[in-house]
Amino acid sequence: MLTDCLVAAIQAIYVFHKIVVSISRPSSDSFSHHMSIFYSLASDALDFFTSYHVYIYSRSWPTISCFVMLLQFRMLLVSLAETIRKHVRHQRIVKHINDSYPEASKEDLLRQDSCTICWETMEKARRLPCGHIFHELCLRRWLQQDSSCAVCRTALSLHLSQIA
Ligand SMILES: [Zn+2]
Ligand SMILES: [Zn+2]
Repeated sequence: MLTDCLVAAIQAIYVFHKIVVSISRPSSDSFSHHMSIFYSLASDALDFFTSYHVYIYSRSWPTISCFVMLLQFRMLLVSLAETIRKHVRHQRIVKHINDSYPEASKEDLLRQDSCTICWETMEKARRLPCGHIFHELCLRRWLQQDSSCAVCRTALSLHLSQIA
């Protein structure tokens, strides 16, 4: 019961946080990424704790509750692995962008002032080796799905298979 309330509270906080972030600070991607990691770790831990609690107090069907407990434990591990994989992937993409793509110069921004991914104007951008420039945040999201330039499809040196 207590853990149910905690899970609901965390979910409510998370949804509220998502709304606030999306309204007020659309560029705070890192912060919202870390919140989402924290949220999934916290809700995994609470889910697991809830089933453990049920296991401890339901002595009438020890075999079934033990089986459910094992299933729950397996789900916890799968979910944890997915969360860690997502986090590692995010960190590597951030590092890859910082290491490989310099900030766009004033001339670059004069030549192309809107980002081809979101069509918003750019005050700061990152330049790919092919010369195309994008918002850093847009590039980060793009690279989660694709390892080529969003405009000319030039292959980038980001190896998603190594990250996945
Ligand atoms: Zn953009
Ligand atoms: Zn390009």
